[in-house]
Amino acid sequence: MSKKMISIVVPMYFEELVAEECYRRLTEVARKNDLNYEIIFVNDGSTDRTLEILESIAKVDNHVKVISFSRNFGHQIAITAGMDKAIGDAVVIIDADLQDPPELIPDMIKLWEEGYDVVYAKRKKREGESWFKLATAKAFYRVLDRMSSVKIPVDTGDFRLIDRKVVEALRKMREHNRFVRGMVSWVGFKQTAIEFERKERFAGETKYPLKKMIKFALDGIISFSAKPLKMVQYIGFLSIIVTFCVFIYSIVSKIFGVGNPVSGWTSIMVTITFIGGVQLLSIGVLGEYIARIYDESKGRPLYIIEKEINIDNTKDDREK
Ligand code: UDP
Ligand code: MG
Repeated sequence: MSKKMISIVVPMYFEELVAEECYRRLTEVARKNDLNYEIIFVNDGSTDRTLEILESIAKVDNHVKVISFSRNFGHQIAITAGMDKAIGDAVVIIDADLQDPPELIPDMIKLWEEGYDVVYAKRKKREGESWFKLATAKAFYRVLDRMSSVKIPVDTGDFRLIDRKVVEALRKMREHNRFVRGMVSWVGFKQTAIEFERKERFAGETKYPLKKMIKFALDGIISFSAKPLKMVQYIGFLSIIVTFCVFIYSIVSKIFGVGNPVSGWTSIMVTITFIGGVQLLSIGVLGEYIARIYDESKGRPLYIIEKEINIDNTKDDREK
């Protein structure tokens, strides 16, 4: 029986400063541990020198495979494409910026060989990130944990090893607004954690500005929970109760002349603006769900590949 193969999937978006070092560190770990491996770099529409660097690496090392998108499709789609093209018995997903230490991969493989199907890396500590990022990330994982119908591990990114059968299950899930770590929890199987300290970015800036972070957080919550919709209902009920009290009060004061029925500008303004706000918010929440239904209904492919290097498509019999 030949040695089991590991596919390492690395998404890259404007990572010209880290591409080479990332390749070097991954290869060092693979060689040291005598792995049978492939590295799949996914260029997510970067227009800097990322692709050029990856191409020159792939030319001299056929362990390295490259997928290049026609434009930026996003981190979660990039790792999906990597998993689609991976041929290994297990797939490791890792960030390009070396915040996830490649040296952890052999430990993951050990647990996988012991029979776990998913080994995810849990962040014990995060270094070199702003207090804002730390605080929002922490809050996000807690809110998600409260809202989600499946148990999604807290403080855990996409850095993980997943067995072939989990990859096959994920491949059947072609949803567009993807939250891969939640999807991995959803499919089940035997999962375990391994703890690590998250380092600072090797070079360059984060590719997750606030706007992308918000979209990502919404995808996480909306894809895995209908609670925001239910909360809107509760707020609706609450305002009906309040309205009812105000209704009784108005009638009583009109009939019995308690208070002064004519004044009341303040309460009317407060009520109108409050109800208006609640209604717009509710429509917004509905809109978030409807926009995602609309995205799915178009049935577009998840991504478009402009260029592939060293990718063997003969094993690829699935639709994209
Ligand atoms: N990334 C990507 N497409 C994007 C944004 C990010 O492929 O649109 C990649 C990026 O190159 C990196 C990984 O996703 O390998 C994580 O991004 P980053 O390190 O910037 O996120 P952070 O660690 O700051 O949350
Ligand atoms: Mg990073």
